[in-house]
Amino acid sequence: MAGSADFDLYRPSEEHDMLRDAIRALAEAKIAPYAAAVDEEARFPQEALDALVANDLHAVHVPESYGGAGADALATVIVIEEVARVCVSSSLIPAVNKLGSLPVILSGSEDLKKRYLSPLAKGDAMFSYALSEPDAGSDAAGMKTRAVRDGDSYVLNGVKRWITNAGVSDYYTVMAVTDPTKRSKGISAFVVEKADEGVSFGAPEKKLGIKGSPTREVYLDNVRIPADRMIGEEGTGFATAMKTLDHTRITIAAQALGVAQGALDYAKGYVQERKQFGKAIADFQGIQFMLADMAMKIEAARQLTYAAAAKSERGDKDLTFQGAAAKCFASDVAMEVTTDAVQLLGGYGYTRDYPVERMMRDAKITQIYEGTNQVQRIVMARNLP
Ligand SMILES: Cc1cc2nc3c(=O)[nH]c(=O)nc-3n(C[C@H](O)[C@H](O)[C@H](O)COP(=O)(O)OP(=O)(O)OC[C@H]3O[C@@H](n4cnc5c(N)ncnc54)[C@H](O)[C@@H]3O)c2cc1C
Repeated sequence: MAGSADFDLYRPSEEHDMLRDAIRALAEAKIAPYAAAVDEEARFPQEALDALVANDLHAVHVPESYGGAGADALATVIVIEEVARVCVSSSLIPAVNKLGSLPVILSGSEDLKKRYLSPLAKGDAMFSYALSEPDAGSDAAGMKTRAVRDGDSYVLNGVKRWITNAGVSDYYTVMAVTDPTKRSKGISAFVVEKADEGVSFGAPEKKLGIKGSPTREVYLDNVRIPADRMIGEEGTGFATAMKTLDHTRITIAAQALGVAQGALDYAKGYVQERKQFGKAIADFQGIQFMLADMAMKIEAARQLTYAAAAKSERGDKDLTFQGAAAKCFASDVAMEVTTDAVQLLGGYGYTRDYPVERMMRDAKITQIYEGTNQVQRIVMARNLP
């Protein structure tokens, strides 16, 4: 029988509930007011970054020993969920800070941890994750970026594509080929700094959603870095990158959960106000059933996501399946629920005067990044419980 202690971890504790209240209040006051403008102007949500840093919520996962808040995986999920409830673009700040730095936390040397996690925890630097390339997306192991050893250095050359917060982040975990004969076992991970000579960025992508989150190419042109910037041993970079995703896909599930909840909350209020046929549309059973279905799906996604977060924290053996399942399920729910929210607002939902069309556009990315939902199904099928 599974121990009751395991089950308890699925449920947020009183501290988690207090954290949720605090982050919800902060998100409503300091992030929500800018969400529409950030989307409309496709600009970085600086107000959100400032508010998150001021409240020590920008990278809560960093262990206390490196100056961080030492939040567990469930607390990190709750932070991301609550920020995404009002602005998905802003939720990429805590989410990608975890994604970029987790390879260092999981596999980096003590020196790398000290050097790079402390500025992150203080809010002096952000971290990005550079795995994807123009011709290597779902098949990430097909990457071409090279890292060649030269004395005490490695020299990196290549193009990374779709890199979230590129240009804003000071630090990048970059996966590159060190031995082209070994495919995934010939890939190594490195910390590259924005300030390193030879690092530059492409123009921001013009996207359907999460317009406030900059996505750019990262160009590595003869970037010479000290060999001690390698994360773990040579040839272990791809394994570290995949292990990272096992944990961080749960943060994408959290974004999906947050945006779905935001859309439901908005629609719930709207249907009380909107009158047709002489009464509030909330009085029609057809509307009530839609709201019930939306809430039911969100709750199922939440349970799966929190359970996966508990597994991430414990390092359970079935984390790979559960993380992929949470991301896949919650993101499909987010797409359904945000689409239904637009429907519930009728023609008004289809305009930028209301937030639900933005939420629907933002929700779509959760089905695509950190592995598309087809890839999640491949991952699940290979790791069936
Ligand atoms: C806004 C945004 C932010 C991103 N941020 C980052 C980041 O910070 N760091 C980073 O490294 N990457 C990032 N990515 C990249 C993202 O993870 C990839 O876009 C994603 O993995 C898909 O790769 P692709 O776009 O090359 O699509 P492709 O791999 O070309 O896929 C195209 C289609 O084929 C399907 N497909 C592919 N292979 C299979 C298969 N074997 N079976 C069934 N279907 C398959 C896919 O599911 C998809 O529907 C980001 C992407 C976006 C759009």
